[in-house]
Amino acid sequence: MKRVLLKLSGEALAGPKKTGFDEATVIGVAKQIHQIVSEGLQVGIVIGGGNFWRGRTSGAMERSKADQIGMLATIMNCIYVSDICRYVGLSTEIYTPFTCGAFTRLYSKDSVEESFAQGKVVFFAGGTGHPYFSTDTATVLRAVEISADAILLAKAVDGIYDSDPKVNPDAVKYDEISIQEVVDKKLAAMDLTASIMCLEQKMPMLVFGLEEENSIVNTVHGKFSGTK
Ligand code: UDP
Repeated sequence: MKRVLLKLSGEALAGPKKTGFDEATVIGVAKQIHQIVSEGLQVGIVIGGGNFWRGRTSGAMERSKADQIGMLATIMNCIYVSDICRYVGLSTEIYTPFTCGAFTRLYSKDSVEESFAQGKVVFFAGGTGHPYFSTDTATVLRAVEISADAILLAKAVDGIYDSDPKVNPDAVKYDEISIQEVVDKKLAAMDLTASIMCLEQKMPMLVFGLEEENSIVNTVHGKFSGTK
């Protein structure tokens, strides 16, 4: 693999606190990113927003406004993780699909290619820029646009299960599953829009748990224990 798109869920960054950031967790993630970048891999990153805000769970607000807050939450996450990446010695750039003044750069494929050529880790913040979408969809969209070799989906759960392992203790993890099967069985790996796009674009995806030690590096090195 030469270029990957790493998706981090917001919750996974929160660690045991389940909300906000857990600095030790994020420093651990940043060090792993540093290692794979040092080994020559180009890394794009999308981060969810669930540690701050979930647009669709707010009943009192208009969905599109709640989703705007969700997109802003993903920008906060990217600013935080980007800065921790700099703290461990990486160069980074944050792109958003809408202008955020001096906080981020406006997304363009050409600028992103320049950032990769400069050895930077590229953050895709703000989702797709549109309500009714998710950061999963943004992940597949950007992965396809930048011709990533694979999506690395780092989640709070360590793979794709036949039912929710938090609810069903007998849930069985798949070692391997086709996106078609994920779609047909409506498995909770990614939302349906993102899964369909992944299917259409034949984008490979590796799903694993962020809590497992060194899981990002292990996944890149082929020592993989999640679902592919
Ligand atoms: N969001 C959006 N459009 C996008 C990406 C995200 O409206 O393209 C909003 C949406 O409200 C979502 C929130 O940002 O709930 C956080 O994104 P994430 O994909 O993490 O959603 P989660 O799965 O955590 O609800």
